[in-house]
Amino acid sequence: MSIKVGIPKSLFYYQMYPLWNTFFEELGAEVVTSQSTTKKVLDNGVRICVDEACVPVKLFHGHVLEIKDKVDFLFIPRLTSISKGEYVCPKFGGLPDMIKNTIKGLPEIIDVEINCRKDENNELDSIIKIGSFIVDDEKLIRRAYRAALDKFNDYNEDIKKGFMPEDEKNRKSNLFVVKDSGIINIAVIGHPYNLYDSYINMNLFKKLRTHGVNIITQEMISDDIVSHHAAKLNKRVFWNFGRKALGSVMHMIEERSDIKGIIYLMSFGCGIDAFIGDLAERTVRRNTDIPFIYVTIDEHSGEAGLDTRLEAFIDMIRWRENNEVDISAYG
Ligand code: SF4
Repeated sequence: MSIKVGIPKSLFYYQMYPLWNTFFEELGAEVVTSQSTTKKVLDNGVRICVDEACVPVKLFHGHVLEIKDKVDFLFIPRLTSISKGEYVCPKFGGLPDMIKNTIKGLPEIIDVEINCRKDENNELDSIIKIGSFIVDDEKLIRRAYRAALDKFNDYNEDIKKGFMPEDEKNRKSNLFVVKDSGIINIAVIGHPYNLYDSYINMNLFKKLRTHGVNIITQEMISDDIVSHHAAKLNKRVFWNFGRKALGSVMHMIEERSDIKGIIYLMSFGCGIDAFIGDLAERTVRRNTDIPFIYVTIDEHSGEAGLDTRLEAFIDMIRWRENNEVDISAYG
């Protein structure tokens, strides 16, 4: 019987699942993910997690509860940095400790640190440590990682072409659905675990598509373009997500006249969102008249309020397109 490795369907899942799934499978392990988010998963996470945490971290706890009894190992890497000179949110670094100190009866946790802040080659050392939980064969681990990287690169290429990770579709081999075919382009900026988890974002993408919207996310923009624009900021952004979000917004307002509105999807209680969201909004408002709104999510968010705001936002964009394109959306 193969070793079962559990990957909670939350946080890094939406960015990195194809990488880790391929890696562990190439090592002969079976990957088990939790089910897509439901009210029960969220409620369980909220019940057990500290109140101060943001909703994605609470949700992660709920997903761990879902699978902890079905696997031999839980994969919760200590993600300090995934790119040179940048950090991931500190909550990612402390995630294995939060889980260990909150949830009882856990299987062994693969909690190796990944820290590429000083040197991106550090990643390989971490990979070898991670693989050693499953096999004692460094050659095989390196080979599995190469195969995983190929898969991951294909995944990222598909996203750049406009495909999108989506929960329910074909999640074993790849995560994609077809491209949108709407008539208005709206950018949605936010953490991948908020953008692509349709329960936590109250079906935001489905609602937008129903209104004929093509959705553009920061993952669809090439990293070179993002970095080029982010480098123009007065001060370097040292969060990986912050650089991507701000670089994407700057690219959209400077070079993408086809983008008619920007939605910033924000987690309540997220320090990075509070800072980056504000900078994004100022950048948009100072330099263009593209309509911009925040959508904030937490465990209490109500769907009716979201529906009304989205409808009004899209109506306003349509009206501007059809009538007075030179009037600011802000009055
Ligand atoms: S970046 Fe924000 S939303 Fe994400 S885990 Fe950190 S605090 Fe939570």
